[in-house]
Amino acid sequence: MTRMHWMAFRMYLPTLACLLLAFVSTWLLTSAPPTTFLAPLGDTLRWIPYGLLGLAALLGVIASVRLLRWETGDALICLCGGLLGSERQGRFGVYRKCATCGRSHALAR
Ligand SMILES: [Zn+2]
Repeated sequence: MTRMHWMAFRMYLPTLACLLLAFVSTWLLTSAPPTTFLAPLGDTLRWIPYGLLGLAALLGVIASVRLLRWETGDALICLCGGLLGSERQGRFGVYRKCATCGRSHALAR
């Protein structure tokens, strides 16, 4: 795997985590015996896997759009070729962090 593959993998990690949580919650909700403690939440709990699946789809689309913009050169790119993240407020001012090398790039204001 190259550094760019690792960058793409890290960008899709929240999506994979949401999918894993959706599968685990589905497994827990279908295999656990009904309890009196969770009975009032029964119908609400059934929607958790669907909500997590929708969140995973949204996060996947966002990561895909960011990678597409990076590939077409429409995004801010680090000297190493990696994709720069969103602006963050740090101790020494505003900066962007590279998704590949992790280097912080200060923004001139
Ligand atoms: Zn970089």
